[in-house]
Parts: sequence; C-alpha cells; structure tokens
Amino acid sequence: MALICVGHKSPDTDTVVSAIAAADLYKKFKGADAKPVTQSEINPESKFVLEKFGLATPEVDADATGKELCLVDHSDKSQSMDNLEKGEIKCIIDHHKLGDITTPEPLEMWVWPVGCSATVIKNMYDFAKIEIPKDIAGAMLCAILSDTVMFKSPTCTDFDKQAVEDLVKISGISDYQELGVEMFKVKSAVDEATDLELLKRDYKDFDMGGKKVGIGQLEVVDLSMLEGRKDGLYEEMKKAKEAGGHHSIFLLLTDIMKEGSEMLAITDDASVVEKAFGKGLDGRSVWLDGVLSRKKQVVPPFEKAFA
Ligand code: MN
Ligand code: MN
Repeated sequence: MALICVGHKSPDTDTVVSAIAAADLYKKFKGADAKPVTQSEINPESKFVLEKFGLATPEVDADATGKELCLVDHSDKSQSMDNLEKGEIKCIIDHHKLGDITTPEPLEMWVWPVGCSATVIKNMYDFAKIEIPKDIAGAMLCAILSDTVMFKSPTCTDFDKQAVEDLVKISGISDYQELGVEMFKVKSAVDEATDLELLKRDYKDFDMGGKKVGIGQLEVVDLSMLEGRKDGLYEEMKKAKEAGGHHSIFLLLTDIMKEGSEMLAITDDASVVEKAFGKGLDGRSVWLDGVLSRKKQVVPPFEKAFA
C-alpha cells in the first residue's frame, strides 16, 4: 500500500516540502511506495519554492480513508486529514507541541523542538545515510528560512542553522540570504489575494480548554502593506467565527522587519487576551512586540489562558 505523506491543513512551505522530502526518504530508506500530497492548494510562497527547484506540485488529497499515512508538520487531529480514524498512521515527523493524535499500533515518531520539520528530516536523511537530492535540499533550505523567519524566530535552534549550512552545500545555493528575502517578498504579496484567502493562508484551529479557537498568521516585510486590508480581514474573521462556531478567532499580522505582530481579535471573552499577554485589546487589536511565532509565543499563553 502507498504511504501517503501529508502535512497540515492550509499548507505552508514546510508542510509541502517536508511531505515531498519524507516521501523521497521513505522510498529510499524503506523501499516504501511513498507519495506526497497536500490537503488543499499550495500558497504563493510554496509555488515559488517548488518552481525555483523544479519540483512537482503534490496532488491534493484531504481524506485518510483506507490509507497508510506519514504525518508531517502536525500532530493535531483538527489540522489533519478528514476521516483520520479510518486511515493508519505509520509515522509522525513534527516540531510542534504534541497534539491529540493517538494510534492503536506502534508507530515511528520524530518530534524535535526545532524551528522546522525540514530540519528534522535533514537529520533523518543523515541517520539513514541517504544523500539528499539537490532540488529537495534547496526546497528544504527554503522551508527552514520560512519557518524560522530567516533565523529571527525564537523557535530557531542551532540544529536549524546547521541544517541550512549543510543544505547550502548540497544545493549549491550561493546566497541563501538573498533567496530568503526573495521568498519573503513573494509571501508578502497580498494584493492579488482576497481577504478570505489571506485569512486562510496560514490558519489553524485549536481545541483550547474545550473551546474552538482559530489562529491565523500573515507575515509581511512591512505591516503598512496590510493597512487597507484590516476591515476586510476582520469581516472574514467574523463570518468564519459564526460559520465555525468558534469561541475566538485571532489573526496575527506579523511585521518581520519590526519583529512584532498586530493581533486582530474577535472573541466571546476579551479577557483571554489580557490573561495571555498581560495586555488588553485596544479596540479590535493589540500590538505584541517581539511576537513572531504562533507556535512558541501565541499558542502556549492562550492554552494557559483558556485552561
Ligand atoms: Mn507548518
Ligand atoms: Mn513547520
């Protein structure tokens, strides 16, 4: 049976590239008939990366029924495929907090507290003594630069920096900083996207203390690019909250140069924001200085505030 390698909903570059790399590694390491997929269309940044390195765009598949699975870049049911209990999870490769997925059978797990799933997979290739193909190495390098916001995120570790150093050599990329800036410019291009597309571009639902909480993030090189979009984004958040029965939806508008985020909030209880960050909403949003990482700086304080 084919091993389906798949990342989280609203695929980002790490999710897409790690699915591709995991499939390549499991093919070579275990002789598995492995195949990468994504749960929905990939975003402009990921398109840029796959095109840059001549990699094929994975097929879209969001249903786990009857499939053997390798989950990458997530371990939460809410972020995984539909009908997950009707599939068989063979392995999990991730760098987030451990989610709520359990399995009836033993499985392989590679979960490291590093900045990117691609960093974990780089070390898996090394463990298996398998060479990383040049094109996949280049894409993995981009995934690490994307997830760590070019090493600026507090999630970035020495493992990530070492992986980039090694991947630079394998891929033959001469200036990875320049490539990173080019990639973030693509990520920042918001003009062609609708408000709904922007909200969903990097969006995740969480179960926090039994409440449904959605947290999206848009990373741009300059927050002024989103100035004219906030009203529209807020309207989409309202609609999504009603349609999804959420307690709260938050959207981080992250300025990677200023190194902070404006968080738009729509919630049944505004005190959770004060509880989480020691700072209340000013109208519909709050500026969170130094906050770049949803995983490390936003989800944990909210988990506590909702507990
Ligand atoms: Mn991800
Ligand atoms: Mn990731």
